[in-house]
Amino acid sequence: MHDVINPATEQVIARVPSTDEEGTDEAIARAHEALTAWRAVAPGDRADLLRRFSTVVRDHVEELAQLEVANSGHTIGNARWEANNVANVLNYYAGAPERLFGKQIPVPGGVDITFQEPVGVVGIIVPWNFPMPIAGWGFSPALAAGCTVVLKPAEITPLTAIRLGELALEAGLPEHVFTVVPGKGSVVGQRFVENPKVRKIVFTGSTEVGERIMAGVAPQMKRLTLELGGKSANIVFADSDLERAAATAPYGVFDNAGQDCCARSRILVERTVFDRFMELFEPAVQGVQVGDPTLDTTEMGPLITRSHWESVAGFVTDDAPVAFRGSCPTGPGYWFPPTVLAPVSPEAQVFQEEIFGPVVVVTPFEDEADAIRLANNSEYGLSGSIWTRDLGRAMRVARGVESGNLSVNSHSSVRYWTPFGGYKRSGLGRELGPDALEAFTETKNVFFSTED
Ligand code: NAP
Ligand code: MG
Repeated sequence: MHDVINPATEQVIARVPSTDEEGTDEAIARAHEALTAWRAVAPGDRADLLRRFSTVVRDHVEELAQLEVANSGHTIGNARWEANNVANVLNYYAGAPERLFGKQIPVPGGVDITFQEPVGVVGIIVPWNFPMPIAGWGFSPALAAGCTVVLKPAEITPLTAIRLGELALEAGLPEHVFTVVPGKGSVVGQRFVENPKVRKIVFTGSTEVGERIMAGVAPQMKRLTLELGGKSANIVFADSDLERAAATAPYGVFDNAGQDCCARSRILVERTVFDRFMELFEPAVQGVQVGDPTLDTTEMGPLITRSHWESVAGFVTDDAPVAFRGSCPTGPGYWFPPTVLAPVSPEAQVFQEEIFGPVVVVTPFEDEADAIRLANNSEYGLSGSIWTRDLGRAMRVARGVESGNLSVNSHSSVRYWTPFGGYKRSGLGRELGPDALEAFTETKNVFFSTED
């Protein structure tokens, strides 16, 4: 059993069983048996089931959101968005079964056709930072492709995933098509990697564990999607709308208390406007509403655990160049104030390492080439923002930054109908968007001779 703790109150709110190796293999075996019938469901009927699942999730948005606030300390506004995101992604991929086209390729002496066939049982391993959306980005296209799914939530944030598993059955999905298996990564996750009946792993989490999983699936050559860490740049040019760039920068990094793989945790500012930017940035940071996540007005909640709090605090050492900080509650809860370190050199540990908390570094750059060089001075490449009024520059910099998801004059990076994923050590493959089913299917090519 595992005690689930509310990070805003430090109270135990639930006890969840930890599945052992035997239980995990059992769930995988059931998912494997369910595969034959599920892949044979007519495309329109599979679409209907996914649409019904989406509707049931939509009917439970408030309940799911409240669960996430209690389990993960997400602000209620964010949690509602996250629950709705699950419903949206299910609805989007409900359109896929009838559109899972192969190709007919011209060949001499016959007909050549390709089929997109489900890879089989998919094991999805989810981190604690966005329990609902990350689960949905995996299971929705997997189910649409005709795969069955076993899903391991993070041990510390299992509640919404468990509820989604119940809602799937309520919506009429056959038993064992979508199974939530709570437990430890080293037990449940490890069995997903080792058990040969799992043919594909979707892993979201740290680069360190992702590396281990990539090595672990190599002997069986399991298909793999990895969504890993990030240290994304928010590049602010002198010709930008500096007021807007400064006003929005806190939300590009401090959302979800900075526990966001897409956090723009390195702000690069053109040297000629560096001081002006910092003047505008300070009140914006101090204006971030940190506190009780159940309130509609709260913009940032607590960190997830005491040990994560210690890890984040470890980056703000006594000699750290703290420029200014926001505020946060005292008393129970893993509270950490929004913190700005500046100026920070590109060699500094805080410039290079993912902190995964509300800590941002600000570094000046000289010109466009320097901005691109600094942005790319990272082992990661997940997201990033570019602030400029010069369209040509926006295009050149967007093409120059080695990153999977960029936004110009905005900090948005995730839309369920556009592809999402990382360059370099931020991951492998892409989720979401129109092509997501490719990651859950094998292409089979069949040639039919028309010779007499
Ligand atoms: P983590 O420690 O790597 O854990 C992620 C998941 O993997 C958890 O469910 C964990 O189980 C499991 N796991 C741990 N060891 C395992 C093993 N040996 N075999 C199989 N599974 C194992 O990451 P985290 O601390 O939860 O999340 C933070 C990280 O996720 C950050 O680096 C962040 O950038 C990254 N992230 C990336 C994206 C993206 O889309 N690129 C999105 C969100 C987060 P437990 O329950 O035992 O921990
Ligand atoms: Mg971890």
